[in-house]
Amino acid sequence: MRLPAEAEEFFTWDPVLRRAPNRAWRRWGNDLLVRTLLRVLREFALAHPDAPRIGVGDLSRPRGGDFGPRYGLPGHASHQNGLDADLYYPRRDGLERPPDDVGDIDDALAQELVDRLVAAGASKVFVGPRTGLRGPRSVVQVLAHHDNHLHVRLPPR
Ligand SMILES: [Zn+2]
Repeated sequence: MRLPAEAEEFFTWDPVLRRAPNRAWRRWGNDLLVRTLLRVLREFALAHPDAPRIGVGDLSRPRGGDFGPRYGLPGHASHQNGLDADLYYPRRDGLERPPDDVGDIDDALAQELVDRLVAAGASKVFVGPRTGLRGPRSVVQVLAHHDNHLHVRLPPR
């Protein structure tokens, strides 16, 4: 399934061109992933009607496969099978763009987003070393280059 370019509760962001929305061919995922994202983002928005919309980055290519640097730097090692998505942490200033630094992150909202993804059945949530975000050790793991976005992975069915 292709994730819509935007909705009332989220926008998409192209990490290569650095603009919204993300290009359509970068927004494909397994239907479980897309439905889970839509549900979590809707519930998050309902709980925080005044919060900025969450930014969604890359999912996978239309039929999956390589999503490395040839598709734009820095490229992804994973994002190959429709089960991975990048979500940008919400900013304190409410701007709809990725945080430029961890100081821009609304920590409480970001932690709640992590918690909701864990509750929704994520098998992994990768967060940046400087974010201070946490969760069950088997699921929420610190990974370099994730200080402006988290990476969520759903288990294969
Ligand atoms: Zn990712």
